[in-house]
Amino acid sequence: MALSPMMQQYHQAKEVAGDALLLFRMGDFYELFYDDAKVAARVLGLSLTSRDKGENPVAMAGFPHHQLDQYLAKIIASGHRAAICDQMEDPKQAKGIVKREITRIVSRGTVTDDSLLDPAASNYLAALITDGDAQQVGLAWVDLSTGAFQAAALPVRDVVDQLARIAPTEIVVSDEQRAELPAEWLTGRQSTSRPAWAFNQQQAAERLAQHFGTQRLDGFGFDHESATDRLSLAAAGAVLEYLTETQKADLSHIASLVPLRQAESLEIDAATWRSLEVTRTLRDGSREGTLLGVLDRTVTPMGARRLGSWLAHPLVDAEKIDERLDAVAELVEHPQLTSAVRDVLKGIYDIQRLAARVTTGRAGPRDLSFVGRTLAALPALKAKLTGRASKLLAAIEEQVDLCPELRSKLEAMLEEACPLLAREGGFIRPGADSRLDELRELMSGGKQWMANYQTAEIERTGIPSMKVGFNKVFGYYLEVTHAHRDKVPAEYIRKQTLKNAERFITPELKEYEEKVLSAEERVQDLEMQLFTELRELTLRHVPRLLSTAECLADLDALASLAEVARARDYVRPEIADAPVLEIEAGRHPVVEATEAAGTFVPNDTVCGGVAPSTRAADESQPTAASPQILLITGPNMAGKSTYIRQTALIVLMAQIGSFVPARKARIGVADRLFARVGASDELARGQSTFMVEMTEAARILNTASERSLVVLDEIGRGTSTYDGLSLAWSIVEYLHHQIGCRTLFATHYHELTELADQLPGVANRNVMVREHFGKIVFLHQIVEGSADRSYGIHVAQLAGVPRAVSERAEEILAELEQSGHRLDTPHAEVSPPHTQTAPSQKVGMQLTLFETAEHPVVEKIRELDLNNMTPLQALAAMDALKKDL
Ligand code: ADP
Repeated sequence: MALSPMMQQYHQAKEVAGDALLLFRMGDFYELFYDDAKVAARVLGLSLTSRDKGENPVAMAGFPHHQLDQYLAKIIASGHRAAICDQMEDPKQAKGIVKREITRIVSRGTVTDDSLLDPAASNYLAALITDGDAQQVGLAWVDLSTGAFQAAALPVRDVVDQLARIAPTEIVVSDEQRAELPAEWLTGRQSTSRPAWAFNQQQAAERLAQHFGTQRLDGFGFDHESATDRLSLAAAGAVLEYLTETQKADLSHIASLVPLRQAESLEIDAATWRSLEVTRTLRDGSREGTLLGVLDRTVTPMGARRLGSWLAHPLVDAEKIDERLDAVAELVEHPQLTSAVRDVLKGIYDIQRLAARVTTGRAGPRDLSFVGRTLAALPALKAKLTGRASKLLAAIEEQVDLCPELRSKLEAMLEEACPLLAREGGFIRPGADSRLDELRELMSGGKQWMANYQTAEIERTGIPSMKVGFNKVFGYYLEVTHAHRDKVPAEYIRKQTLKNAERFITPELKEYEEKVLSAEERVQDLEMQLFTELRELTLRHVPRLLSTAECLADLDALASLAEVARARDYVRPEIADAPVLEIEAGRHPVVEATEAAGTFVPNDTVCGGVAPSTRAADESQPTAASPQILLITGPNMAGKSTYIRQTALIVLMAQIGSFVPARKARIGVADRLFARVGASDELARGQSTFMVEMTEAARILNTASERSLVVLDEIGRGTSTYDGLSLAWSIVEYLHHQIGCRTLFATHYHELTELADQLPGVANRNVMVREHFGKIVFLHQIVEGSADRSYGIHVAQLAGVPRAVSERAEEILAELEQSGHRLDTPHAEVSPPHTQTAPSQKVGMQLTLFETAEHPVVEKIRELDLNNMTPLQALAAMDALKKDL
């Protein structure tokens, strides 16, 4: 059966849409057909009907066009993409079938609709490509809703880490490479295949150059000669190709491509990112209870996103960190300034997303009025910032662009409250355009004209009670009571006779009526035209609006840091180039915020300072330098992981330019941060704890440098105690001899504390606990030395283990200690430098506990007097023993 012309049109569009659900506009509905309809019925809950009932029914489902946003949200959330096919002409004016076109293809990474986006988070679309021998990866990511666009080249092993921090919602890959890419790169996000040519280096560079209107991309800091730069540009080119293909819109708000150089930011791998709970909690992925949750007091979505990106890419350049700290310090010192700045910021809108909607042609009158209101707030902001001492605040003051022409135009033209869509009309202020005023006057019935006409006719005819009226049947009419019937002029045309009056029309009245009724249409057209002019004016200002938005985002983020610093009593850290760490009375920013005020116990962290090479040169002399590795022992729940996490978080905070929760801090810039604390979520993916732990340990040992900071919790679990202990031991040695980085190592293996006596750079710390009436009290205080007793039993008691069990355990422990099974005195001798040490031959309590508890049958065998037994008796005894097993 031949397809109807419309279904032919449908099939053509579907070809373009590919695997996207095609939303085909028909009248007031978006319809889906065939398999798309079935998917829609399932994921959108639409009812499935059919078209062309009879022999070849076509499955169909649809929804009213004004519910598009709502259904788009569901489509995107279900992991599908949607191709929107609109009617490109007015069906009333179409000759033959209405022209239809796909106006955009929406996916996770390309949504721009406010209702589908989290205002406080960026929504990145990424593209990645590996080089020929899969050593390097080009990665580019764009936030279509704001225009932010970045690219980087990375070694393959760093891809997962970078992706964890950027958190793109969609990744574009080459269809030739897709099958070979590690699954973990793509899981949890929408992935999209594009033909390999989209990633072609030459074409990508040309596409980018054309988009940015530049010959080459050197101006953005990319080097065409460098293979890695070409790789990152290939990814960026693919991003642009995909957007051009799917958006069919002006993308000029994507105004620059910023290279991300790995060496220019603090490297945080994926596991660290998760375990420090920087932006998402391990438990439920929420923002509440994270570092970002504590630091984010921003008042604009732009500021919130900026703070998020600072955390994802902290600085490593001490000078840049100090610039931010200077600005935060100035805001902290001038609380009134800060609150005034924040008050102004509260009144501004998300001009990054507004600008993006302007360029992509999706802005409505309300969006433009928000741009206007934002501009109106800026002079006050600029005034507040004049004469600021810090470089950043002064630069922000200077760079905030008031765009006065745009502002005054928008203010003069737009109503206070504007509709979302231009076609709703009524958003141009009265007095803004005389043609529009006239038309509106006409439209609203031209009361004045009618009044004038009525007066003139009364005078001319001498009928004092004559009135102009309107009804739907005749339109405008003149009403004359029967008493004055004889005075009605001849040219009046009678239309209706009532009980005591007659109604007439006149050619003049009809002419006017025509004007009034057509005015409505013309008002709409004119408003649309004025709106288009305003939008174009705004479009020309987009680059200036975006650079102002950058300033506002920075300012909001800085003010937020200042606000938190003051509210939570943080101090400015001193930033050092040497790998030192001197934190006095440091606190955990998140735990502190959740505990009752004043209950958090502050602790010092002092480590690092002298590079191992220096130390090796003069090993015999105990150096004054602080230890490089701190081994922290103590019972469960004492606060070990809180302590090591807080140290890592303080360093991270300092490197984004934040004040830190401490009395005093001197922090040497770290190049990489490694934290392995708390449950790893890899476990859920079925890998064994031990394998995961060792993979992560390998990662640290292979990439950490002297300038890194490593915090480790309980390495070596998930294997036999001997294995675990030996591995933990040798890992500490390696960190000490080979890497020399600042390390905090929390452990259960009491035996490890011996290392402090064997290695000069290792020192023991433990968490103070006190027994109080046989119960344990956690003081959360980190003190020098190692924990000297296991408090496990007390903890078990606290946890509600039956009294009989904990009492018996106390007995066993006492016995073990008496019989010397426990490790007491560590090695007295200090090992020569860089030689391997070994764990003491004696083993810890956990092992001996099970070794001594021999099977009761063994005792019985010992008691057998074999010399006085017959073979048969022996056999019978053996049989009895077997029953006891
Ligand atoms: P561990 O790692 O030794 O098992 P945690 O670090 O998980 O112990 O700490 C256990 C609990 O003790 C935390 O949930 C926290 O509420 C509390 N805590 C830890 N450190 C402190 C501290 N310095 N001040 C107050 N409470 C603390």
